[in-house]
Amino acid sequence: MPTETFEFQVEARQLLQLMIHSVYSNKDVFLRELVSNASDALDKLRLEKLRHDTLDADTSDLHIEIDIDQDARTLTVRDNGIGMSYDEVGQLIGTIAHSGTAQFLQELREAKEGAEEGLIGQFGVGFYSGFMVADEMTLLTRRAGEGEGTRWTSRGEGTYTLETVADAPQGTSVTLHLKPADPDNQLHDYTSAFKVREIIKRYSDFITWPIRMASEAPAADSDDDGKGDGTPALETLNSMKALWARSRDEVSEEEYHELYKHVGHDWRDPLETIRLQAEGTFEYQALLFLPAHAPFDLFTRDYKRGLQLYVRRVLIMEDCEALLPPYLRFVKGVVDAADLSLNVSREILQQDRHIEMMRRRLTKKVLSTVKDMMAKDSDRYATLWREFGTVLKEGLVTDSENRDALLAVASFASTHHDSEQTTLKQYVERMKDGQDAIYYLTGESRQSIEASPHMEAFRDRGIEVLLLTDPVDEVWADAVGEYEGKKLRSVAKGQIDLDTRDTDTSDEEQKKRDEEYAALLGWMTQELGEDIKEVRLSSRLTVSPACMVSDSGDLTPALENMYRAMGQ
Ligand code: ADP
Ligand code: MG
Repeated sequence: MPTETFEFQVEARQLLQLMIHSVYSNKDVFLRELVSNASDALDKLRLEKLRHDTLDADTSDLHIEIDIDQDARTLTVRDNGIGMSYDEVGQLIGTIAHSGTAQFLQELREAKEGAEEGLIGQFGVGFYSGFMVADEMTLLTRRAGEGEGTRWTSRGEGTYTLETVADAPQGTSVTLHLKPADPDNQLHDYTSAFKVREIIKRYSDFITWPIRMASEAPAADSDDDGKGDGTPALETLNSMKALWARSRDEVSEEEYHELYKHVGHDWRDPLETIRLQAEGTFEYQALLFLPAHAPFDLFTRDYKRGLQLYVRRVLIMEDCEALLPPYLRFVKGVVDAADLSLNVSREILQQDRHIEMMRRRLTKKVLSTVKDMMAKDSDRYATLWREFGTVLKEGLVTDSENRDALLAVASFASTHHDSEQTTLKQYVERMKDGQDAIYYLTGESRQSIEASPHMEAFRDRGIEVLLLTDPVDEVWADAVGEYEGKKLRSVAKGQIDLDTRDTDTSDEEQKKRDEEYAALLGWMTQELGEDIKEVRLSSRLTVSPACMVSDSGDLTPALENMYRAMGQ
């Protein structure tokens, strides 16, 4: 097949322009991204070989290698992992389809002039970050088990080329043709072995595969296959020590953060790192991260949830869903179990008693961490709840075992305060004498809820109402029913007996009024016919002449809309 030239999608081109002209200060991270991809590719190959031992691939010495050529000014990152087919290269490298990037571009479009640089730091764009330091990139790859390879090249300027290559080695090598040296800035010389060593140590030390580089030292001094046959000796740059297996005070915050970025495919630091060490009959270690930002696809079916599952340092499953309930799907991290079969399947995991125990323990650990955060660092708690509160509330419906723990960390907008959220505990503490229920109203926005006629009587009497704006709110409020013996009641449902002591309608007067208006009510009931059940006098309005009320058991309008939208 001849060399073919393709155009980047518009979005990709936009992104590349940004990379090429980037003044993003921390350019070193391009190497972390390429190494991260190489490491993923090695993991994938090992997993595939584990599942299909007929796969025609060499897995005897899986590793990453970095080559620098000072004269040609190139830097190459090579792996002998899974590789990519011709079509995959076109899909994965030629277009920008993956999730983080879509969000990135969305924000990029909305960003003000000059704000783009900050965005790179927030999102990053994996493979393309190479263009921060290179004016041309070449990728040569062969998918494990396939005969032919593929070469991809681009200057990042609008087009890329693809060609089939007969004799490519298994795996992928990415070669960066580095931009001209900047005599004023020796710090960014990526042809310096010293520099490369430093970057790897800093960002990729925990990578579980050896990252090798030709050593300048004589072969005899090297600790790694000094073959003595004229090929330069190789040194291994990373310690390969799994962070979760090291003692806590031996690992820096920054190292944990780098691991998070690798497993979470995120460029930003996590909000919280959680360590857990379980000893006894079923031993495991876990390192979990609470991200600082919700991915935009968290509520879509495509969202890939799950933790990385290792067995004694060997990754056996990439997105293991069985380790956490769906409402904790935003949590990232790794779990390393001592005694699990390397061949264990997803189906078996779902039913495994040990996995079930792990899930319960990990769930409790995450929830207790959130509780601690709430007590000790309210700002970080507020960030977490803002980003993930909606997901966590799903747990109120689905996880009765942890319902109390979830209710303890939940917070809501309320009429008590314009901008700060309230917990149920705080609400109960403020309840008025004689008030026996926690009142809430659901709706599209705070504004629309506050404008509702249902709110009038409550506002008038100074009774606090929770303002709930997520679709899931109605579902959990119904499912939970009460908190600490106080009923959760929608102000839009059923008869509400607000404290009648300060309204002066006695039973006598009520009866008289009912008689007085009987004719009007009868007429209205007839006129409105099918649309309503009943017309009745109310004490809940002070300004509006009338409002619609649902029966306690009925769906509220928002829920009706939600079900209708779901086609039910
Ligand atoms: P991400 O790693 O977050 O998916 P990248 O831009 O870094 O995003 O990479 C895009 C995709 O290209 C990867 O998901 C992977 O499928 C493919 N890819 C990149 N580098 C390699 C590699 N060395 N070996 C195999 N596939 C790779
Ligand atoms: Mg990547």
